[in-house]
Amino acid sequence: MKYLSTRDRRLRMSGAEAVKLGLSRDGGLLTPETIPQIDGAFLEDLSKRPYQERAAKVMALYLTDYSEEELLAFANNAYGPDKYDHPAAAPLWKVDGSTHCLELWHGPTSAFKDMALQMLPQLLSAALRKTGEDKTVCILVATSGDTGKAAMEGFADVPQTKIMVFYPKDGVSKVQEAQMVTQDGANVGVCAVVGNFDDAQAGVKRIFSDPDIRETLAGRGYLLSSANSINWGRILPQVVYYISAYCDLLRDGEIKMGDKVNFCVPTGNFGDILAAYYAKRMGLPVGKLICASNKNDVLTDFLRTGVYNKNRPFHTTMSPSMDILVSSNLERLLFDLSGENDAEVRGYMEALNAGGKYEVSETIKAALKDAFWGGYCDEAGTSETIARYYKDCGYLIDTHTAVAAGVMEQYRKETGDKTMTVFVSTASPYKFCDNVLRAIGEEPQGDGVELLDQLHEKTGVAVPRRLAAMKGKARRFDLTAEKAEMDGVVLDFLK
Ligand SMILES: *Cc1c(COP(=O)(O)O)cnc(C)c1O
Repeated sequence: MKYLSTRDRRLRMSGAEAVKLGLSRDGGLLTPETIPQIDGAFLEDLSKRPYQERAAKVMALYLTDYSEEELLAFANNAYGPDKYDHPAAAPLWKVDGSTHCLELWHGPTSAFKDMALQMLPQLLSAALRKTGEDKTVCILVATSGDTGKAAMEGFADVPQTKIMVFYPKDGVSKVQEAQMVTQDGANVGVCAVVGNFDDAQAGVKRIFSDPDIRETLAGRGYLLSSANSINWGRILPQVVYYISAYCDLLRDGEIKMGDKVNFCVPTGNFGDILAAYYAKRMGLPVGKLICASNKNDVLTDFLRTGVYNKNRPFHTTMSPSMDILVSSNLERLLFDLSGENDAEVRGYMEALNAGGKYEVSETIKAALKDAFWGGYCDEAGTSETIARYYKDCGYLIDTHTAVAAGVMEQYRKETGDKTMTVFVSTASPYKFCDNVLRAIGEEPQGDGVELLDQLHEKTGVAVPRRLAAMKGKARRFDLTAEKAEMDGVVLDFLK
């Protein structure tokens, strides 16, 4: 299987090269040239296997330059009991006869980013071997919270890698900051940047594109790379859990082979729901893909009108990981829906860069309507949904998951669709204690990690073990830099 750039089909490379590079040099996203097909027998077989084996079998269809044994070893490391506090890694929680919740936050940082970031470092290490790379890869991350911690946790002490994370000094939650500055690992570094997330992100991009820094670092034996969701090595592990959820429903007699299942996904950069789309294209019986946004509803408008327009106010919400106006992974969807027409995709992306806006063809509009339904949930709706699930089902969900649950209900009301629907839970409620407490009618007492106890005392829901362990943990990192000093921080880190 070869990988192509969405902006130039002539650029072809192996899976290992695509993982190592992260992003194509022409700015396009590296995407598989064909989508492998699965059938009933494949699903039947998978439904009898544990999550790790399911992951190896699905990923082997795409990464043909990795062996299935190799991928199984990675999956055992990624999703085993050392890392995941649930034996199924990605279990379903049954709400009622036609509704299930897919819990993706049982990993080390209590956010769904672990599902991919426990796997990516292993794929990358192997890619270095497979491509004969002798340099050490340094991953640079600008984070608004979840990605930085999950990436550090994944890359900590992985040979031939280092990782440096920049976060906005006053732009992450107390729990998120505590998670980052207490990170273990000899190869990790963390630095607060005076400014907001865009400042941190702009600094990282500047370092990536600076030929002098690259050359200096190459001389010291380092290569820079990225761990954000444009890397194929982050999308592929996410395809697995949609197929796995279907297999669990089959195994438990909730559906029959061939029955359709809808998935409702809380969406930001469009990585998670894109993985669901690939599962559908592989032949998994999927009905609608319901794309749930918060008050930043650019995707809702896009799916309804075919016009993508990022020229609109940016809202800071209680589901911060979905506060995003440019969803990078949409580019892979457009590439597929246009019949892999690289020139067409390039046109859309040029229009987005120039005027912040593009309109897709009639063919793509029809295909979008067929596969997707878009909706958004505002702040009040998010709180009400948390309260309702807690009161009616005794089930505590976080703010991002609540957006999905709220939009799923709108979808059902509007369409009358009774199809089995799985909504995706992307974070533990303990990562967003303050807003979850308020939603269930409690005033938060204190801030940061103190709220873990308050939420636990109120609800009795177990605190994820690593969040609980953070309370006694010493701060390891205390570095703060101005924007202009970020280059120096990196050069110092990679001495
Ligand atoms: C990253 C994130 C999302 C959004 O996922 P995308 O793949 O960017 O669409 C949703 N919820 C949480 C908790 C996240 O961390």
